[in-house]
Amino acid sequence: MVVFAYLSRSSNLGYNKIMEKMPVVKNNYQEDIVKIDNFKIKDKLGFKIKECSIIFEYSYPNINVLFKSLLGKPGYVAGIKNGIINIIKNLRKIDNLSLKNDKSEYFIYNILPKDWTVLFSIGKKEDFESCISFNDKTIILNTNPLTKEGLMGLLHEIGHWEDDKKISKYDRFQREKSQHKMAFRNGTEKDKDILIQIERNAWANGLNHIRNFKDDLDISIDEIKQEVHGNCLQYYEDRFTELLNKH
Ligand SMILES: [Zn+2]
Repeated sequence: MVVFAYLSRSSNLGYNKIMEKMPVVKNNYQEDIVKIDNFKIKDKLGFKIKECSIIFEYSYPNINVLFKSLLGKPGYVAGIKNGIINIIKNLRKIDNLSLKNDKSEYFIYNILPKDWTVLFSIGKKEDFESCISFNDKTIILNTNPLTKEGLMGLLHEIGHWEDDKKISKYDRFQREKSQHKMAFRNGTEKDKDILIQIERNAWANGLNHIRNFKDDLDISIDEIKQEVHGNCLQYYEDRFTELLNKH
């Protein structure tokens, strides 16, 4: 169960790993923004979609990165269905991803510090859940970031980092405490609200960045918002409610 994984990881590592419930948007959300038929070991690509220029560079992560992010902490990736070897084979590291048009620019490593690692899977997205680890400074996406779904997943995860950067030490402590309490089925309504707010903030950040590119990339903010509020946040709401201390 995903939430259990989410909680069991946060229980001993504090406000660290967030396993995700991503939106399933019906209308063209799985479509490629740019179709890449065959991922190589490394490549540097450039595209123009309407007014938006995209630069995308990726490479095969070195063994230290893989070890740190996947093997060093057993169970890092939740819900593995087709085996860890398959996931390792299908992972690539984003070296650069930028979007630029006359309204805005979004360079992932202008937002995320350069010592962070972003891995993505070229395999099936069902193989595991996307996640972010603050301790390991790693984001792992279960999809290709040049699909609409993958790009929004990436912007959401980076949105978590942006959110975390804004909060005070006290608020961060409160979040850790809420995660810890929830993991031990000892949370209150307030803890639940704190944890759901983390997700809400990350989506707000991600959607805010895509706003100026939505017409070029044909991404519907309204549809994503509807799914986030109607489905994803509700999912956390339901699961956390099950885990509240009712004694
Ligand atoms: Zn999230």
